Amino acid sequence: MVVLDNLQKGHRAAVADAEFVLGDIADQDLVNKTVTRYGIEAVVHLAADSLVGESMQQPGKYFRHNVGKGAAFLEALAEGGVKYFVFSSTAAVYGEPREIPITEEHPTRPTNVYGATKLMIEEMLRWYEHIYGLRWISLRYFNAAGADPSGLIGEDHHPETHLIPLVLQTALGKRPVLQIYGDDYPTPDGTCLRDYIHVTDLSTAHVLALEALAAGSPSAVYNLGNGNGFSVREVIRVAEQVVGRPIPVEVAARRAGDPAVLVASSARIKAELNWRPRYNDLETIIRTAWAWHRQHPDGFARIMNIDYSGARTINGQ
Ligand code: UDP
Repeated sequence: MVVLDNLQKGHRAAVADAEFVLGDIADQDLVNKTVTRYGIEAVVHLAADSLVGESMQQPGKYFRHNVGKGAAFLEALAEGGVKYFVFSSTAAVYGEPREIPITEEHPTRPTNVYGATKLMIEEMLRWYEHIYGLRWISLRYFNAAGADPSGLIGEDHHPETHLIPLVLQTALGKRPVLQIYGDDYPTPDGTCLRDYIHVTDLSTAHVLALEALAAGSPSAVYNLGNGNGFSVREVIRVAEQVVGRPIPVEVAARRAGDPAVLVASSARIKAELNWRPRYNDLETIIRTAWAWHRQHPDGFARIMNIDYSGARTINGQ
C-alpha cells in the first residue's frame, strides 16, 4: 500500500509503516510516476476539504481543491491505467432529505458547496468509466466518528469543527464551552440529528469495495451509516456519561447549510458487499474517541518524533 498526501491536513504519524509519498494529488507528474513505480491498479481517494460551514464561506476554495485537483488526479490515474477507484463521498450530496432513512435512490440536491463538489466528482467518475473503463465505488459517508480502538490513531484537525471532538475537547477543559448550532430545528429536542459511523467500520467498507471491484463487481454508490439518528444534545449526554463529568454548553445560531436530519439506509452495501458495522452504538463510538483524546490531548504532535526519511520525493529520482 502507498499513501500520497501533501500533509496539509493529514499527519505523517497516522500513516504508520505504509509507503509514503509526499505530494499533491494535482501534481500529475508525481501521480503518474507513483502509479508506474508501484504498479498501482486501485486507488482510494480520500483527499478533500470537507467542512460544510467553510464551504459556504469559501466556495471557490472547495471548487478549486475538491473539483479542480480531483479532476487532475482522476485524469492522471485514468491515463496511467488505474482500473479501480474508491471514492470518499458524503451524505451531503442528498441535501434536505425527503424521506428518512435516506437511500441511494434519494434525489441529490446538495444544500452546501461541499456536497456539490463531491457530487461533481461522482459525475466525473461516470464519464471516466465510459471513456477509460475505470470501475469505481463511491462511499457516501454519514458522520465519521470515533477513533481506532488501539487508541493510537484519532482525529486531529486544525481547526477542529466536528461535534464529537469538540465535545471531548470541552470535557478536557481545552475549550470553555460547546456551542450547539441551533435548537429550533424540527426534531424531537430541536437539535440536528446525525448518523454517526465508526471509522473502523468505515475503513472496512473501503476494503470490501476494493475487493468487490477486483472481483468484477460493477460501479456503484453506497451509503455508509448506522441507520440511527442522534441529536446534538444526545451526543453531549452520552459523552457526559463516558467522561463522567458535565460538559458546559450554550445554544448558538444555526450553521449555514446544515440539514435538520441526516440518517442513512445502508441496506444496499450490507446486501451487496456484506458490510457489517461492528461499532454501531454511540457509546462505543464516543468511548474510542475519548480514549484517543484523553491520551493524546495535543493530537499527533507529541506522539512520536516525526521521521520524514521514509517520504519519497519521486520527482527527480
Ligand atoms: N454541531 C454543533 N456544535 C459544534 C459542532 C457541530 O452543534 O460545535 C452540530 C452541527 O450543526 C451538526 C452536528 O453537530 O448538526 C454534526 O456536525 P459535524 O460538524 O460534526 O458533522 P457534519 O454533520 O457537518 O458532517
